[in-house]
Amino acid sequence: MTDADATYDVIVVGGGNAALCAAIAAREEGAKVVVLERAPEEESGGNSRFTAGAIRFAYRGVDDLRVLMPDLREDEIANTDFGAYTEDQFFDDMFRVTQFRGDPDLVETLVRGSFETMKWMRGLGVRFAPIYGRQAFKVDGKFKFWGGLTVEAWGGGPGLIDAETRIARSRGVEVLYQASARRLVFDGKAVRGVEVKIRDRLATLRASSVVLACGGFEANAEMRTRYLGPGWELAKVRGTRFNTGDGIRMALEIGASPAGNWSGCHAVGWDRNAPEFGDLAVGDGFQKHSYPFGVIVNSRGERFVDEGADFRNYTYAKYGRAVLEQPQQFAWQVFDRKTLHLLRDEYRHKRVTKVSANSLEELAAKLEGVDAAAFLATVRSYNASIRTDAPFNPNIKDGRSTQGLAVNKSNWANAIDEPPFEAYQITCGITFTFGGLRIDTSGQVLDSDLAPLPGLYAAGELVGGLFYFNYPGGTGLMSGSVFGRIAGRSAARALGLTG
Ligand SMILES: Cc1cc2nc3c(=O)[nH]c(=O)nc-3n(C[C@H](O)[C@H](O)[C@H](O)COP(=O)(O)OP(=O)(O)OC[C@H]3O[C@@H](n4cnc5c(N)ncnc54)[C@H](O)[C@@H]3O)c2cc1C
Repeated sequence: MTDADATYDVIVVGGGNAALCAAIAAREEGAKVVVLERAPEEESGGNSRFTAGAIRFAYRGVDDLRVLMPDLREDEIANTDFGAYTEDQFFDDMFRVTQFRGDPDLVETLVRGSFETMKWMRGLGVRFAPIYGRQAFKVDGKFKFWGGLTVEAWGGGPGLIDAETRIARSRGVEVLYQASARRLVFDGKAVRGVEVKIRDRLATLRASSVVLACGGFEANAEMRTRYLGPGWELAKVRGTRFNTGDGIRMALEIGASPAGNWSGCHAVGWDRNAPEFGDLAVGDGFQKHSYPFGVIVNSRGERFVDEGADFRNYTYAKYGRAVLEQPQQFAWQVFDRKTLHLLRDEYRHKRVTKVSANSLEELAAKLEGVDAAAFLATVRSYNASIRTDAPFNPNIKDGRSTQGLAVNKSNWANAIDEPPFEAYQITCGITFTFGGLRIDTSGQVLDSDLAPLPGLYAAGELVGGLFYFNYPGGTGLMSGSVFGRIAGRSAARALGLTG
């Protein structure tokens, strides 16, 4: 057990992907490192543990993927079009979805460092696998990947966190659980340590550098309402209950500069009856990400988003907000027989809010809270508006769209007319917040004069400036890994250790 006078080279606050990457990188530089994780061990790993482990990075083709997944089989390679996801495509996606607001230096660090960081993780012993099923559908006997997202961590988020924790510990990083950082020790010039509550005991741990990697403020209803706006206290939290904005608060208290989209967040369609916070037994199983193949209606029976505007990777993170803005903060996703086989595994989870029917009239009567007559009118006009000249193809943006509706659907439009019909009720589930601390490309936190704050570094969700309005799926883990590694390395190198 650490005593109150313990001294380290680097203290890392947080126990998720960004924190563990920072800790391992600092240790690689020879630093004496401790990780302070607020959660008990069985709930450790933050939002990172809740993920499916999907991770976005630039790659030039299957040869790059083989470096990360040396166990890829020849028959898998023969039956799969892995394509490529170039750095240019990654840049385009980041700037397009953030409406060109993402900090160009941070985006460049993220994109150019992505493959290199994946190789580093693989070298440490983290394993990866292709995301068949969710990111590639089989058409004419061959899988084709789409949406720039091809690889997930072996064992998903739990597999990633368990592997990184094992690696960190085996290299000599000390990991303390139920260790909640309360305040930074700051002498007016530099950060010198952290005040922490370890179970029921308060301690002051001293260090030459501190890396904050303890998540955003998504699990703090008061901060959500203050920064995201009225109504956000009503959102469900998809992931950990421990990300209550502590790192951001502690840094702002000593003069750190806030950055990024403070009123913005990542939020998705999430089961209406999900609990207030994430449940690790369910993981990401409450999400409902197959809406591009159906329609979404609100209590007035009206559609309110273009379900097929883009691959779901580029729309899902902003559509949670659209659901929150509907009357009573709910909606139903509706599908018919033609696309039921495309629904992701989460639709078959036993804790799902679902109704089925053999006619549209029967379905309308079962859609709790929905104006049935208006719903039937919506489906009728939707069905009549589809351009059928483009064949349906889930692997590409097929251009099979509607015409003349107040809210058109741009791709994957099929009539909702063949029983059985299924509908799934959703509300808004918040994933993480976009606003946070300002850092430079070495991971150092800047103060309100935009000067580096000596001894303070940050990585992961609590960094502001990367994401605005929206987010390309799989970038959260990549950002945590890239900036965690950089922050840990910088924190250790600032001490002039010899390694
Ligand atoms: C359900 C779900 C699915 C997702 N799926 C994906 C996906 O497939 N791919 C992807 O890239 N992203 C995904 N994300 C987003 C991704 O989880 C995050 O962007 C990423 O994991 C953030 O990493 P992090 O290390 O910054 O934060 P976290 O992993 O959340 O870690 C924060 C850590 O800080 C700790 N902490 C908080 N306060 C304190 C304190 N005061 N003292 C000490 N410790 C503290 C927490 O306990 C936690 O361990 C998903 C998120 C959710 C919720």
